[in-house]
Amino acid sequence: MSSRVLVVDDILANRKLLQAKLSHEYFQVVTASNGEEALEVARTQHPDIILLDVMMPVMDGFEACEILKSEQRTQHIPIVMVTALGDRDHRLKGLMAGADDFLTKPVDDFALMSRIRALTKYKLVMDELRSREASGRRIGVIEADDSRGPIEPARILVVDDNERQARRIGLTLKQEHRPVLWSEAQSEGAAGGAGIDLIVLSLDAKAFDPLRLCAHFKSQQITRDLPILIVADFEDEGKAMRALELGASDIIMRPIDTEELSARVRTQVRKKRYLDTMRRRLDESMELAITDQLTGLFNRRHMMKQLDQFLQRANAGGPPVSVFIADIDHFKRVNDTYGHDVGDEVLQEFAERMRENVRPGDIPCRQGGEEFVVIMPNTPGDMASAAAERLRRKVAGDFFPIERGKNRLDVTISLGVSTSSGENCTIDELLKSADQALYDAKHAGRNQVKSRQAA
Ligand code: GH3
Ligand code: MG
Ligand code: MG
Repeated sequence: MSSRVLVVDDILANRKLLQAKLSHEYFQVVTASNGEEALEVARTQHPDIILLDVMMPVMDGFEACEILKSEQRTQHIPIVMVTALGDRDHRLKGLMAGADDFLTKPVDDFALMSRIRALTKYKLVMDELRSREASGRRIGVIEADDSRGPIEPARILVVDDNERQARRIGLTLKQEHRPVLWSEAQSEGAAGGAGIDLIVLSLDAKAFDPLRLCAHFKSQQITRDLPILIVADFEDEGKAMRALELGASDIIMRPIDTEELSARVRTQVRKKRYLDTMRRRLDESMELAITDQLTGLFNRRHMMKQLDQFLQRANAGGPPVSVFIADIDHFKRVNDTYGHDVGDEVLQEFAERMRENVRPGDIPCRQGGEEFVVIMPNTPGDMASAAAERLRRKVAGDFFPIERGKNRLDVTISLGVSTSSGENCTIDELLKSADQALYDAKHAGRNQVKSRQAA
């Protein structure tokens, strides 16, 4: 799907020109003629990026930028300020107002496309993370990357085989960050990317092919998510564009304006850290959504999902899937005698033994209360019974420590095993027959394994 660009400019001719250029590259374009209108369109049309003119009546670009970046609905939309040529103050003021980037008028085609490509790519990743968040559990509001305040020093790898150039970049970065030059990085082992926040890559390197290196960084596990800031000469526009296609995040042109370099580095580092936080929270929330809080085993919801998948495969002629239900014997007595907290301790210790004693492909779950289920893919009934028997012995064979080690308890479990059969075995049938087998085990005197064929 093509990205939607909001073009904001008070002069109709400017809007038309940008619209023509962008439509030519298959972007969808919406327009606004002042800051206030821009807010309205941004809130309702959800553009992927905003090109914002500075000097406009009613509300200028800086004010509009500040408001857009302060509202939850719009703060994730990248903003490119469009400033008059040579107006450095405006550019810096724009970045201070939270703009993600700037372009100078007259807008150069190459600069326009490279900025839009770089920024929409970042937004795509963000949108993906957001939608996964929405489909899973709420991970809570993450503060937007406040683009104004100072940031923690970043570790930046400067890759340039021209020592003089590399040192000059390093010197600028040193004011705020901890740059490592490529030559030093080799000896420090930092060249692999570990602990690095950003890579600054010069396109005019001779000793190696910078584009190939860019592709390499983007393909390696450790460096894949690292932003790459490209340093290019004006005659290298084509190569710079290629670098963006290969996954570089941003470009700065020579001669390097040190303030621009600082601002671009700050933006990239901020975005990387924001994405890191998003990813981490997402991982945590995914984990939370499938684990049982007390025992850390998989929860019932995950159990049902997994069972469904493996049963579908088994029913389609795949390998059989077995389950066993393990239920603690006379668990109510534990609660009644020692209290609920000790009961919880027993459940946790049992979960631990279960985790330690299942095979790598098996899926240990807490079905609820003191009932546990292990799903065993690719496992026929006799092997499943053997696994259940092994666990039974692990439980009965050794006391459970309780009251944080001060006391100990004799615990036993009963287990019911069941294996999928035929072509139309349902989750319900499988679990029901395991439950019946468990009932058999309880009736036969507890502390034993029984099995039943699923109906
Ligand atoms: P049986 O040998 O027939 O399984 O007897 P039982 O006492 O283990 O079985 P019953 O189903 O009668 O009792 C289960 C008890 O487990 C009742 C309930 O209070 C307790 N229980 C369920 N969930 C928890 C929990 O999360 N923590 C604690 N401490 N107890 C729980
Ligand atoms: Mg029980
Ligand atoms: Mg029970």
